[in-house]
Amino acid sequence: MDELRLVLAPRVYVLAATEMTPEGVHEYLVARGVPWGSDAEADPDRLAEVAGRVCYDSFKAPRPGGNAAYLGHIKEVGHGSVLEHASFSYLLDGVSRTLTHELVRHRAGCAYSQESQRYVDASGVAFVVPPAMLGWHAEWQRMKAGGQVTVRAARFDEWALRRWAEQGEYSRLAELLASEAPAELEGTERRKWARQAARSVLPGCANTRIVATFNGRALRHFLEMRGSRHAEAEVRRLAVAVWEATLGLAPGLLGDYEARPLPDGGRELVTPWRKV
Ligand SMILES: Cc1cc2nc3c(=O)[nH]c(=O)nc-3n(C[C@H](O)[C@H](O)[C@H](O)COP(=O)(O)OP(=O)(O)OC[C@H]3O[C@@H](n4cnc5c(N)ncnc54)[C@H](O)[C@@H]3O)c2cc1C
Repeated sequence: MDELRLVLAPRVYVLAATEMTPEGVHEYLVARGVPWGSDAEADPDRLAEVAGRVCYDSFKAPRPGGNAAYLGHIKEVGHGSVLEHASFSYLLDGVSRTLTHELVRHRAGCAYSQESQRYVDASGVAFVVPPAMLGWHAEWQRMKAGGQVTVRAARFDEWALRRWAEQGEYSRLAELLASEAPAELEGTERRKWARQAARSVLPGCANTRIVATFNGRALRHFLEMRGSRHAEAEVRRLAVAVWEATLGLAPGLLGDYEARPLPDGGRELVTPWRKV
């Protein structure tokens, strides 16, 4: 390994979001003999409205206000099951193993596929700098560029050296263990056998990648629980990033959230309608 790789922020890649089949809705409306059209800007919002209107057969005489008002009412009365039809898939990179341990606690309406520490070589793994230490990191970088040696910069230097040592230890362990693996194991199985033990020295801040899918209701719950001021700072930062990446894809579903600044420099997500 030539350099210590540090991650300063998560990357949220939106892989998929619900798209409707307009023909299906049209066929249904023709069959029922009702003219209806939604002014929704996005399919996840439109789908939730269709699902809600089926419940009360309310296509004929919609109240004023369009999709925004309709979904606002759904949230107000807590009829959240209609939000479960839409789904959103993300590839999250630049997140720590500690974070994903918290993420996967969300089960209902969620699906996950995570990079394996048994199959994938972690010799060059990056480490996520905890948000509380980003200021230290900035001072450390200035120190390395010839600037002032501050206490925080020195502390960060110690932290980085420990990560460096862990990475080296991982590589040495993986190599030694692979040489001692049972003779009947070959190729990938042999490497897996070594890596599954060598990973024991990787810290919680080791970078990982995970694909996460949420239905619309589960996404809201995740944003509320993990975007809260009481949530851990790294997962809170992720929740805000996920919300920002998705807002344009489902403004009706997610437009009631506001990202408010917090004293720690992060932001929290707040909404008048929690756990719909
Ligand atoms: C600030 C914070 C601190 C935390 N601290 C800890 C901690 O110290 N230790 C710890 O172990 N966990 C902790 N957690 C995790 C927390 O307890 C939940 O496991 C996690 O937030 C997932 O949320 P959820 O239980 O609502 O599950 P989700 O899967 O997100 O479920 C959504 C909702 O569906 C319903 N539901 C889901 N599964 C079931 C079920 N099996 N039975 C009945 N209803 C269900 C519930 O209404 C639930 O709220 C913490 C979470 C936060 C946000």
